[in-house]
Amino acid sequence: MAWYSKQKKVTKKAEAPAAPQPPEAAKGEGMWNKCDGCGEVVYKADWEANWNVCPKCGHHDMMPVRRRFEMLLDPGSFQELDTELTPQDPLGFVDAKKYRDRLKSTFKNTGMRDAFVSGVGAIGGKQVSIGSFAFEFMGGSMGSVVGEKVARVIDRAFERRIPCIVFSSTGGARMQEGIFSLMQMAKTSAALNRFRGVRKPYISVMLHPTTGGVAASFAWLGDVVIAEPKALIGFAGPRVIEQTIREKLPPGFQRSEFLLEHGMIDAIVPRLEMRDKLAQLLGLLG
Ligand SMILES: [Zn+2]
Repeated sequence: MAWYSKQKKVTKKAEAPAAPQPPEAAKGEGMWNKCDGCGEVVYKADWEANWNVCPKCGHHDMMPVRRRFEMLLDPGSFQELDTELTPQDPLGFVDAKKYRDRLKSTFKNTGMRDAFVSGVGAIGGKQVSIGSFAFEFMGGSMGSVVGEKVARVIDRAFERRIPCIVFSSTGGARMQEGIFSLMQMAKTSAALNRFRGVRKPYISVMLHPTTGGVAASFAWLGDVVIAEPKALIGFAGPRVIEQTIREKLPPGFQRSEFLLEHGMIDAIVPRLEMRDKLAQLLGLLG
C-alpha cells in the first residue's frame, strides 16, 4: 500500500474528568491574581479595588495608566490632550521586525498611540498639568512623541501658571528612534528650565521601573522627587553595572529604599497614600 493512501488512525483519548483549576493556574486571567511579592492568590476584584497593591504583603504591581488618573484626580476633572500625536519611523528602523509593524501591532494591542498620556486635571480642587508613562506600550520607552508630550505637559504648566506632575515608568530611550529619542532628554530638560521662571512646583513620581534616559533627564529634575515602594530606579540596570565594574552590588541597590537612604529621592509614598500626599504638597507649594 502506498504511503499516501494510508488512512490515519484516529484514536480517541479517554476523556479525563474536568479537574478543578487551582487558583495558581489563573494568574493574570480569570478571577484570581497571584502576587509576585508573596505568592499569595488574591481575588482579582479585591486586587483591583486595592489599586493593584497586594492586600497581603503590600507589593505594588503595575497599573494601567488610565486607572492611575482615575485614582489620583478629582472625578471628571481629567481632560486628555495631545492625542493627535502619532509616532513616525524617521530611520526606517528594523530589528527583529520593522519598527513600523511593531508600532501597528502595539496600537492594536493597547489602543494607545504612544507610551504617554497627558492632559490637565485637578487634585484636591487644585489644577495641575499632568502626564504619565504607559509601561504597557513598548516598555514605556521614550521616542519623539513621548518627549514632545512631556515637554507639552511642562509648557502647559508654564503657560497656565499651574503645578506640573509627571509619573515615570520606563525602560528609557526608544532605540528604534536612535538620536531622535536621545534628543528628548535635552528638550524636556530645557522646558523644565523655562518652567522654573513661574515658581510653581514640578513633582516627579518614579514608578517601577524608571531607568535610562528618562531617569537621566526630567524624572530626576523634580522640585520634589517621589517614588513608589521597591521601584527599580537608575540609569543603567544593576546587571550591566555589575558586569562593568566587576563587583557585587549591595543588597537593594537601585531600589527606592536604597535611594532614599542615600539622599537620591525625597520620599517613598505608597500608592494608596499618593493622592493625599500630592494634595498636601500642592497645598504647601502650589
Ligand atoms: Zn503579596
